Order: sequence, then structure tokens, then C-alpha cells
Amino acid sequence: MSNLYTLLQAHFPKDASKPCLILPDRRVWSYRDIERASGRIANLIEALGLVPGDRIAVQVEKTPEALVLYLACLRAGMVFLPMNPAYQRHELAYFLADAKPGLFVCRPQMRALADQLALAAGVAHVLDLDDDGRGSLIDAAAGQRDAYVDVARNGGDLACILYTSGTTGRSKGAMLSHRNLAANARVLSATWRFRPDDVLLHMLPIFHVHGLFVASHCVLMSGSAMFFEPKFDVGRALQLLPQATVFMGVPTYYVRLLAEPGFKRDTSAGIRLFVSGSAPLSLETFEEFKVRAGHTILERYGMTEGGMFTSNPYDGERRGGSVGHPLPGTEVRIVDEQGGLINDRRVGQIEVRGDNVFIGYWRMPEKTAEEFTPDGWFRTGDLGSRDADGYIRIVGRSKDLIITGGLNVYPKEIEELIDAMPGVVESAVIGLPDPDYGEAVTAVVIRRQDAQGDLPSEAGIIAQLKGTLANFKVPKRVVFATELPRNAMGKVQKNLLRQQYPGT
Ligand code: AMP
Repeated sequence: MSNLYTLLQAHFPKDASKPCLILPDRRVWSYRDIERASGRIANLIEALGLVPGDRIAVQVEKTPEALVLYLACLRAGMVFLPMNPAYQRHELAYFLADAKPGLFVCRPQMRALADQLALAAGVAHVLDLDDDGRGSLIDAAAGQRDAYVDVARNGGDLACILYTSGTTGRSKGAMLSHRNLAANARVLSATWRFRPDDVLLHMLPIFHVHGLFVASHCVLMSGSAMFFEPKFDVGRALQLLPQATVFMGVPTYYVRLLAEPGFKRDTSAGIRLFVSGSAPLSLETFEEFKVRAGHTILERYGMTEGGMFTSNPYDGERRGGSVGHPLPGTEVRIVDEQGGLINDRRVGQIEVRGDNVFIGYWRMPEKTAEEFTPDGWFRTGDLGSRDADGYIRIVGRSKDLIITGGLNVYPKEIEELIDAMPGVVESAVIGLPDPDYGEAVTAVVIRRQDAQGDLPSEAGIIAQLKGTLANFKVPKRVVFATELPRNAMGKVQKNLLRQQYPGT
């Protein structure tokens, strides 16, 4: 029974009338509804003539039907390929041509373009699904039987392809197997103590590892329920948190909650666990949340290419600024540029190994070979260090490392100091080409609009840093902006900043 759906289903509640999804209008999808609707779509997929291993590309909004479509793909042995609804012609054309899916499910407003791109890429079928969960996919599935026998899978068989956001070069399709996803689903639901009476507030998108796998699998693996909201909305969060027991978010969600005067201790009195990840949670947010909500956020770390790698402990100290320890079944090591193991607190490259680590990039054997060491460790591209007692800290992506005058500068160290200055909301430190230094340390700073007194100036920030940091780390320039460019998961897009300020 290596089909991931079969594993999840084994944990569904005995009483199938129990709620799985609770929608904004309070309609409920029971576990029976999930089982039947995914059965109908799995039957439809087979009726279309698709065979196990075929890809199904999906670009739709977050609805119960979209989640059910994912489960149907697992059941029928298809390879689910979710795409951010923000993608336009250029990206879609690339993904369709690269993945060659047998079916493309799109939003009705994209239908004309989808038909055209599908024809060009040789995709045999296009169906649509709208933002209310209606469309030709559902109409066609309505005539199918509810019952479906899940296709047997080997652990190594492909379950999903998730294209990485690809900030440099071509976007890569990370291939995740049933075994990869099952390993993480098991470990996370156990480590974070999911139980049948939990209610997760699910506000994350489901085209990404965080919302699709981490959040949804924890619920399905424990037969619990989730408020299934189309997106993060702080007002809705304030309404629903008092009825939930677990919340998972990217750091931006926590920042927005704290910005709400209505967010009080009472709001989260019934929550047993707040989880943060996908981007670094600032120490300031972590500490403020403790005071305001009375909760210590559990920060974890992972990526598309393997789900979650580390987590702060459920019991025991959750350390601000740290992503905790390797999860059971995942090995994490930190190495220097020559591949030598780092056993002290120095910063190095993070490498991981385990059943959850992906099997390679779709149709990119050379890229895959480059990203794995000969002894089978995946090079995450993240830089990190380990505290004396084993807690891991992420310093940033290695491609964001600044090398100035031959010396390494880790942006996070400088960002933390600038962020703590009065009148500063946040900052991003980048390296810009410089004839003397190779790269010049540059800080992009967002100042508080409502700041009392003087706003921090370029000279002021530089002067303060000079007293604290080695000179080579002090930014040569500080520029001010109104906001930092972020992707859907709240990650600062430093590549865009480097393009935006090339001449400074
Ligand atoms: P993605 O594949 O979109 O999930 O992005 C994965 C990347 O997000 C990782 O390689 C890290 O650089 C970053 N990331 C994820 N979680 C954290 C975290 N808790 N702290 C810092 N960076 C994180």
C-alpha cells in the first residue's frame, strides 16, 4: 500500500460523516464527501484514457474541489503538477511544454489561452474549474461512480512535480514520490501531535509545499478538520482562530496578525500550536508574539525539494531565530566549501538526506547530479550554522551571500541589526556589483510611516552599524523603499532588488 492516498485514507475517521473541510460559508465536506468526490474524479481521469505516470497540470484557485483533484491524482497514480494562479502565458507555455501533461485543468477565464497552449504543447485534454468549485471538470466527473480502487504504487513512483520559483535560470520541476510525501506526512503529524479533535486554520495556498503537503497532510493523517479558507485574510483569521487549535503560516501572516489591535490573548486561547515557515521569522515577531498572544511560535525549515527538514521541538525550548533540529528520518549536515564537515558553530552549506528528499529534477539529469553529492546528500543551497546544543540556524540562500573584497558577508547578520533600529520596519541587504570590492554591501530599508521623531537616515544607519560590525560588513549604501518585493510565500525576492538597484 505505497499509494500515499491509501496511507492517508487509513487514518480517516471511522465515522466518515466527520467534517474534513469547513468552508467560509460553513458548508462542510465530510471525509465521506472527500472520498466520493475524489473517486469520481479518479474514474473520470481513467475514462479520459490517462494512465498512471501521466502528468496532470493544474492552475486553479484554492477550493475543496482543487484539493480533491490532488487526491484523485494520487489515487489514480497520476503525477499532480500544481501551478501558481498568478502564472501567465510565458510561464504556462514553458511548464506545459516541459511536463507534457495529459490533462490541463485551468480557470475558465484562462480557457481560451489554455486551449491554445495545450494545442501547441500536445496536451490532449483541457478542463476547467472556477473559483467556486464549478466547471467542466466537475460536470464531467458528475457522471462517474464514487467508488474507486486506488492504483497500487511503489514508494518510488512519482506523485507530484512542483516547479521551484526559479529565481535564476529555468524553473525546475522537483519530482516527489509517494514515499517522499508519505515520510514527511507521517513524521510531521506525529511530531506536531496532530489528533482527531484538532481543527487547523488553513489559509495557505495549495500550489506550494506548505499548504498542499505540510498543512493538508497533517489534517488528513490525523482524521482531523480544517477551516479551508481561500487565502490569508487577517479579519477572517481573527474570527476563526478562537475556533481552531492549530495555525500554520508564513512569517508575513504573523506580522499582519500583530498589526491588528483586535489580536489579543483571547483570540488564540484555544490554539495549541502556531507553526511558521517558508521564510525566516524575525526575532522581533517571535518575541512580540509571545507577549501579545502568549504563544511561542514553532519555526520549522524545509523546501519544495523535500518537504520539511527540521523543526523546533513540540515539547522543550523553541528557540527564536532557529529552525530547531533535524526531523526524525532526515539527516542534516553542514559542510564547508570543500565539502568538509563542520562540527562547530561556523556557517556552511546545508545538506540533507532522507526518505523525504526528492528524487530529482524533471528531465534535468545533469542539474540533478550537480545538486546531489556522490554519497547521496542534497545540496539545499541554504547556508546555516548549528548552536553548541544542536539547534540549527538558517543564514540565507548561498546565492544571496555577499562577497566583498574577498570576504563573506551574511546579509542576515546586518538585517537583524538594522531591523532593530527605531523607525525601521524591515530591511534587505544585498550585494551590488562594485569595481573595487567585487560586490558592495547595500541595504534596502523600509522606514515606519508613523514614526515619532526623526526617521533614520542613510548616514545614521551607517554610523550605528560602524560601532557594532566589522567595517567590511557595513553597507556602503543605504537606500529607502516603501516595501520589499515578496513572493506568494512571503519570501523577499532579492534577485528583483538586485535588478532594481543595479547602479547604486
Ligand atoms: P520553497 O521551496 O519555496 O519552499 O523555498 C524553500 C526555501 O525557503 C529554503 O531553501 C529556505 O531558503 C527558505 N526557508 C524555508 N523555511 C525557512 C525558515 N524557517 N527560515 C529561513 N528560511 C526558510
